[in-house]
Amino acid sequence: MNIRIICIGDELLSGDTVNTNLAFIGEELANHGLNVAAETCVPDDMDAIHDAIRQSDGADVLIFIGGLGPTTDDLTRAAVASYLGFQIRVDESLKQHIISYLGERRRNMADAYLDIQSQVIDTAELLPNNNGTAPGQLIRRGNALWALLPGPPREIKPMFINFLLPKILEKCDSIVETLTVRVCALPESIVESKARHAIEGISGLHFAICIKKDCIMIRLSKPADSNPQALDLAKQRLQKEFGHYLLPDECLTTAHYLGILLKDRHLMMATAESCTGGGIAAAMTDTAGSSEWIVGGVVTYANEWKMNVLGVHEETLQRHGAVSEATVHQMLDGLQMRFDVQAGVAVSGIAGPGGGTPEKPVGTVVIGAFAPHWRCVKTFHFSGLRDTVRQRTVNAAINLLITGLLETNH
Ligand code: AMP
Ligand code: MG
Repeated sequence: MNIRIICIGDELLSGDTVNTNLAFIGEELANHGLNVAAETCVPDDMDAIHDAIRQSDGADVLIFIGGLGPTTDDLTRAAVASYLGFQIRVDESLKQHIISYLGERRRNMADAYLDIQSQVIDTAELLPNNNGTAPGQLIRRGNALWALLPGPPREIKPMFINFLLPKILEKCDSIVETLTVRVCALPESIVESKARHAIEGISGLHFAICIKKDCIMIRLSKPADSNPQALDLAKQRLQKEFGHYLLPDECLTTAHYLGILLKDRHLMMATAESCTGGGIAAAMTDTAGSSEWIVGGVVTYANEWKMNVLGVHEETLQRHGAVSEATVHQMLDGLQMRFDVQAGVAVSGIAGPGGGTPEKPVGTVVIGAFAPHWRCVKTFHFSGLRDTVRQRTVNAAINLLITGLLETNH
């Protein structure tokens, strides 16, 4: 099935807004074994939208994203209608729906805007929008499906999942089933070889592996009408192989999983961060309910703070430097002795671009973690620019503590 996407918006081309909707839809479709054949991103301009439609005409599914608002730069409805030679009309029941959705805020919307927002392309079926005013619009052209979706991510996501995706799946003649699992705290090469080994002998599976920001993702897929037990069997084998290193589906991030592991063990953690500037604490508090696993964190950037807040010895800093295993050990000692926690992480590193030396080049990061009866301090060498080094440090620190918890539990 040929699926194409046209994203509309000046802000997507100027870099003011990152095109996250493409990534979202691409991933959702990939989860169902479907690919996006092409995406075109165009400005809020009638001719540009028409050109893009001409190039994509012939797709089985054509998805338009953005430009459904009530302002003069929102041209998607008009562009699609004029391309197809269809009329646009104000839909009174939609208008009433928008008025009741807006409630008190109705006063902020001029009548002309309300009329534009209530416009529907003739023959279009409306897709409800429970998070905004612009409904989606669905047009059938022979066997092809054209869908106009709003740009704000919080509006398009539920609309796509609840209303458009089922209609796309209905059109598939060969449904593909997929299984996605995420593995944390293990390197990619090990994950790949163990996973391939685990599913050996299960026929007809397509195997894909991808490094995500904080874990490794494996996606298995197969035609729905072949080997019905294959994915269940693969899931059992992967569960047996990776055990608690598999991220539960309900954990959106590895940090969330670490939080759950701590909570299950009735442990509280704290962080002592230098080069990540609070990034680990930020990741650990991203999830609601995080006060059940983290009490807080300190950012000890300067040596004085490492000494005063955590009790790192001046002599250690002088002899080994701030980026050293000896210093990080003492940062962990500080967390353990000065704060009432049973687990913690500490990091100190050179994120760059300056500050590197031949012995400790940019990307050298020392990461330490402790849990009851367990402590580990390791030196890592990350490549990449400052942001990447900091992000990798955050992930490695979280994964290191997960390793500690999982290792000491067995
Ligand atoms: P629009 O429907 O074009 O008025 O867009 C409304 C909002 O959605 C604006 O804040 C846009 O920046 C945002 N938006 C539009 N398209 C995308 C996209 N592809 N990815 C992320 N945000 C988007
Ligand atoms: Mg726009």
